[in-house]
Amino acid sequence: MRLSSVSALAIAVAIPLALSACQSSDTTPTTEAPVAEATVERALGAAALDTERLLAADSEPASWLTTGQNYWEERYSRLDEVNTSNVANLGLAWSADIDTERGQESTPVVIDGVMYLTTAWSMVKAYDIATGEELWAYDPEIDRAKGADACCDVVNRGVAAWNGKIYVGLLDGRLVALDGKTGSVVWETQTTDTSLPYTITGVPRIVKGKVVIGNGGAEYRVRGYATAYDAETGEQVWRWYSIPGNPADGFEQPELEEVVDTWNGEWWELGGGGTIWDGMAYDPELDLLYLGVGNGTPWNQKYRSPGGGDNLYLSSIVAVKPDTGEYVWHYQTTPGETRDYTATQPIMVTELDYPEGKRKVVMQAPRTASSTSSTQRPANSSAEKFAPLTWATHVDMETGRPVEVPEARYEVTGVPAIVAPAALGMHNWHPMAFSKDTGYVYLPVTVSSSTYASPEEFTPNMDGWNTGIGFRASDGVEPVVATGVNPERDSYLLAWDPVAAKEVWRVTNETYGPSGTLATAGGLVFSGNHSGEFVAYDAKTGEKLWSADTQARIVAAPATFEANGAQHVALLAGARGLPPEQERTNPISANNSRVLVYRLGATGTLPATLEEASAGASGSDGVRINPPLLEANNETVAEGEQLYGANCAICHGPASVPAAGAVAPDLRYSGLLVYDRQWDEAVLEGNRAQRGMPGFSATLSDEQSEAIRHYVIKRANDEKAAQEAAAN
Ligand code: CA
Repeated sequence: MRLSSVSALAIAVAIPLALSACQSSDTTPTTEAPVAEATVERALGAAALDTERLLAADSEPASWLTTGQNYWEERYSRLDEVNTSNVANLGLAWSADIDTERGQESTPVVIDGVMYLTTAWSMVKAYDIATGEELWAYDPEIDRAKGADACCDVVNRGVAAWNGKIYVGLLDGRLVALDGKTGSVVWETQTTDTSLPYTITGVPRIVKGKVVIGNGGAEYRVRGYATAYDAETGEQVWRWYSIPGNPADGFEQPELEEVVDTWNGEWWELGGGGTIWDGMAYDPELDLLYLGVGNGTPWNQKYRSPGGGDNLYLSSIVAVKPDTGEYVWHYQTTPGETRDYTATQPIMVTELDYPEGKRKVVMQAPRTASSTSSTQRPANSSAEKFAPLTWATHVDMETGRPVEVPEARYEVTGVPAIVAPAALGMHNWHPMAFSKDTGYVYLPVTVSSSTYASPEEFTPNMDGWNTGIGFRASDGVEPVVATGVNPERDSYLLAWDPVAAKEVWRVTNETYGPSGTLATAGGLVFSGNHSGEFVAYDAKTGEKLWSADTQARIVAAPATFEANGAQHVALLAGARGLPPEQERTNPISANNSRVLVYRLGATGTLPATLEEASAGASGSDGVRINPPLLEANNETVAEGEQLYGANCAICHGPASVPAAGAVAPDLRYSGLLVYDRQWDEAVLEGNRAQRGMPGFSATLSDEQSEAIRHYVIKRANDEKAAQEAAAN
């Protein structure tokens, strides 16, 4: 086994998967294998996917067969009609308003003349790519109360297709197969225990006739797993648990018994976490399915596994056999994770051109470092920091373990620590892309830090988050700054050379926030941003070559395909809140959610601002619920939940049911939610003291008051959705 000579200065790139001896150095990529019958005419909506066609996805660039583009999830299109020389002529071909708000995270899939995408609340839409006409829509009518179980919004990242059917995982834990032509339900199955706060937001993957789906909920109190179902019948084929349950109940898999000693205490009482909620990839040559495993429950390891331990297979990339779910190998990015440091980020398999020859690698950019690993039990090829990271100095390339900074272990030292990244920081689910031309990975990066403090006691919350963390130091306690560096909040699109393991260029975002990426043979990288633009960059240099106003924030990744003989680029727009200065233009979605489709020479335009419907009108009559859009990030909402429970619930009602038994108003209906200044006057300064609302300025900081406001806004939006659903 040969390790690359990358110096491990900073943790950045993936777990290198240095290839072991069983891999020849000049493997012929399966991507080049069968030449697809790109000219085959199939009926509109046939969704005629089989293994042969999926293996040849790269030679069918007119389609976008899976959300990740191919089994390797490279998100690279061979189409080059739109390229660096003409992209300035790209225009809006058609758009369609989406009838939900909240986050829109799905990558469209385009197959046999139809574009399929999912929206918030697990809805599916199908459009004729030649005309933009909506062919069908599927609404699973998710109980809006289920939104309270979704840590990070009621989102969905897209569908999978197979043999005439379209598959979607639903927020309430169901997996559904729809008819590709009509959207009617072929089968559905409940993949989770509905008494627990499981959710599904991830994309099903189809491997060898089986649909593989994971789930989320590790912020709450669940145990993670992935399940494979027969794609035709919905019968369960296998289930792979990511962590051991209660040993007294036995072990579902032999490898769980092998790693049970990496756990302490009674972790199973709160599930222990390890949810597999986003990243997966499949390598047909090695016949390995890679699963990205998430953080522990609670986050604070002191309360999850007292005394520590690696807590396998939390925060790991795990390779399993797709036929059986049999464990093959793992790489743990963050042993004994204690800060929501997941390994659920997108996983990509590709071949890299090292000076000494080609090597196949698995790449991921988690909260450790970006890593490339080989596809057999991995040795790291590189693991370098791609953004400020202060909890570890580097990855030991012999052992693959991060070398931790002791003061960052707040739960061990008992001293609150400011650590970068924060939960969700560096890189989260937002898709990265790999260009076969430049050899660069295009990665949406955020820079953030958070205070982590270990409270004296931890009381499990059966209805909300279980982080076991205080996100501020107690009064009079000065947190230590890990490595002495607290980086400034920032976000950028990064071009990363995974062979040299170093940055090539970056484009800093004017408005903070990550957005997914697409690379094309036209020498372009496409990505939206949170300022409300869709942008094409020169893949070599990062030069901005084209942009379009989207009227909405973008978090999703684009896809590209051909319709009527022309290359099109499609993007689902809409995220929490509106871009700065942007007003509402979509009558049925307060955050201007839309699917936007572009081609060269098109001249379409988006609608003008609606007169009436600017978001966030006050619902001060106390009956109609009309909260502002949810704009805060998840850490803020989580902090707000904790603070609400500690300071507000006694009068305004418990967090789970704000009105129940409350002696004070239901804050979800408060007109003050819209106005941060007036909110502070009531919450901090006590200007309503005569009406029984004391000021909390001695207890709460400005930021904490704001966190509570955002938390209540989240609860109000969940309630608004529930009321709208009940009225339909
Ligand atoms: Ca998490």
